[in-house]
Amino acid sequence: TERRSRRSSGRPIAVSFEFFPPKTPEMEATLWNSITRLAPLAPKFVSVTYGAGGSTRERTHATVARIVEETRLAPAAHLTCVAAAKGEVDEVVRGYWDAGVRHIVALRGDPPGGVGQAYEPHPQGYSSSADLVAGVRRIANFEVSVSAYPEKHPESASFDVDLDILQAKVEAGATRAITQCFFDNDIYFRYLDKVRARGIDVPVVPGILPVSNFKQARNFAEKTATYMPDWIASRFEGLDNDPETRKLIAAAVAAEQVFDLVDRGVTEFHFYTLNRADLVYAICHLLGIRPPAAAEGAAAA
Ligand code: FAD
Repeated sequence: TERRSRRSSGRPIAVSFEFFPPKTPEMEATLWNSITRLAPLAPKFVSVTYGAGGSTRERTHATVARIVEETRLAPAAHLTCVAAAKGEVDEVVRGYWDAGVRHIVALRGDPPGGVGQAYEPHPQGYSSSADLVAGVRRIANFEVSVSAYPEKHPESASFDVDLDILQAKVEAGATRAITQCFFDNDIYFRYLDKVRARGIDVPVVPGILPVSNFKQARNFAEKTATYMPDWIASRFEGLDNDPETRKLIAAAVAAEQVFDLVDRGVTEFHFYTLNRADLVYAICHLLGIRPPAAAEGAAAA
């Protein structure tokens, strides 16, 4: 089929993986099993999130530092403006540079009072995500990624406000946007058209959340006003008590979404791993991304 031939025509696909800092030794073991399993796929970078209100500052730093020490992966540390003075944030940023980190995902973050409250910047803090991007770039020559919202940010009055903010972040020095997850690819492409019409030319990398637990994903989608198409719901219908089949369906559904994006020209993906490797590993395999030994074997064959 056309799809098969286009895929095998070998346009290289780049991937990155997102993790969150573990809270317990058990979660740490799960995370490191996942990192070890995914590392041979040679992602462009792996990112580590920053808890709401800076609650994971130490854990994020520790996770990123361990990635630097124990792997050859390029880590990206998420950082927000929330509840911290500029001096404190700058210290964190310098600490990352000194530890060998060269990539920051710069975010405003959610209001300290929780989602739904009005955002009030810290009086001595960075006032916005664009301000933080500029601050990070002033400190050192970091690569800086930022967020993008194909269905607009829940706080946002209009797409225009969202695009203004994305533009400000890029003008401040961001070189990549990573999207909030979405499940309807048309929404992504309509958004991309709006971004390009503004003359914003940085990559807008789709953030992919492989759905393995449909109920959880649907709750998340409701909370974040992310559209969940009926076709996905129907794929998981009747499987609430059948995790084994659900896992197979999850891989099929994610593959369907990702292949459609590839067919429509996407060459870079950011995966929200939720610290689990299986599903993401399988999707990468389908995309032709293999560990080096397997890739050499295939080439020899
Ligand atoms: P921005 O891009 O600065 O703004 C988002 C939207 O808010 C704007 O588009 C606009 O609609 C509205 N807005 C902002 N400022 C104004 C203004 N002055 N006037 C009018 N409207 C305004 N959160 C974490 O706590 N830790 C993380 O590690 C983390 N990682 C993330 C990674 C990705 C890829 C994404 C997409 C989100 C992540 N988030 C994270 C969530 C993010 O912090 C929240 O969505 C937060 O509410 C907005 O932060 P932002 O940097 O996306 O905001």
